[in-house]
Amino acid sequence: MNDTTRPRTAKGTLKAATRTRTTSVRGGLKRSGFNETSEALFLTSGYVYGSAADAEAAFATPTADRFVYSRFANPTVAMFEERLRLLEGAEACRATATGMAAVFAALMALLRAGDRLVASRALFGSCHIICGEILPRYGIVSEFVDGADNAAWTKALSKPTKVVFLETPSNPTLEIVDLAHVTKLAHKAGAQVVVDNVFATPLLQRPLELGADVVCYSATKHIDGQGRCLGGAILGSAKFVNDELGPFLRHTGPAMSPFNAWNLLKGLETMPLRVEAMCRSALAVAKFLEGRTGVKRVLYPQLDSHPQAALAQAQMALGGTVVTFELAGGKEAAFRFLDALELIDISNNLGDAKSLVCHPATTTHQRLPAPERQRVGITDGVLRLSVGLEDERDIVDDLKRGLEAV
Ligand SMILES: *Cc1c(COP(=O)(O)O)cnc(C)c1O
Repeated sequence: MNDTTRPRTAKGTLKAATRTRTTSVRGGLKRSGFNETSEALFLTSGYVYGSAADAEAAFATPTADRFVYSRFANPTVAMFEERLRLLEGAEACRATATGMAAVFAALMALLRAGDRLVASRALFGSCHIICGEILPRYGIVSEFVDGADNAAWTKALSKPTKVVFLETPSNPTLEIVDLAHVTKLAHKAGAQVVVDNVFATPLLQRPLELGADVVCYSATKHIDGQGRCLGGAILGSAKFVNDELGPFLRHTGPAMSPFNAWNLLKGLETMPLRVEAMCRSALAVAKFLEGRTGVKRVLYPQLDSHPQAALAQAQMALGGTVVTFELAGGKEAAFRFLDALELIDISNNLGDAKSLVCHPATTTHQRLPAPERQRVGITDGVLRLSVGLEDERDIVDDLKRGLEAV
């Protein structure tokens, strides 16, 4: 093949729109003067200027190619933001140091004292603390609803509201929020909808296409997917990112490190392959667990037994990489199960190449008051399994070991 006839610039910038797998490998690539193959790591905090007038111009007129300080923008971080922006189909993207920094910055950029926030109850532990404890300190009124209950959303959104925040599928009970329905109600109430799309990734679910205004990620999960670094991202309209979010990030400083952005660019290259393989194994694992002795219930969006199976299958391309199940014997059974595993690690991360399992009631959701834990279905027998890239038969063999110990 004669590659020279293909239209492209020496800097690697693609001219035409590409499909997901191509975008995840090449989207946002901008080569330096050295024409390196791989994305360059610009591990620099600052930038220099040819003259005093040049420095003045750089500060006066910010452009995409002119960097002044890495708290504001950095070339490696910008490549990561552009690649993720293309994958999400958003107008703009900003990276942050962690997923929590992304959620907090998105909410802080939208909310003011006196505003009302409505959030789904089944949230990642720290997201629940931000909505229920931290934001109310600054005069924001927050209310939680059962995310799977459309009538509860209708009631909560019958009053003027500034922001709706939700997670679907939720962590760890894999509850599904009807995105098209809730965004319609939210907009009628005057609210912007912020979706924590970590469990679905941009590959399985497209909240912006279903009406959401802002999407947040913990890049620590599937985007890195290999347990190396923390990261986060916020995607939305150019207006929101330039006018509201940009200034908040610039002055408060939760910036992503260039080194992490470089790792995450490498993570995005393989994300579609990894996520698809992990979803297939997760479905097989969910089917294996369903109906086993000692297993009270299995939650996985693509199982017909999921309480919202039809909605999950319509809203998501695949079921995701996490399987949640409840052991009949409570905490004692759960701990015995975990301690008998030889392959799957006990760890609270997810979306990783290594299969990881945790007991949410005593780890990720330990700080949640017990009644709130019960309300979202995190009983003492619940285990959350993040299915990795190992051979699915070895994962199942290990689960058998755990079940025998119970
Ligand atoms: C992990 C996670 C976060 C927080 O991300 P960090 O990168 O750990 O800060 C937020 N939401 C969900 C759903 C998560 O799984």
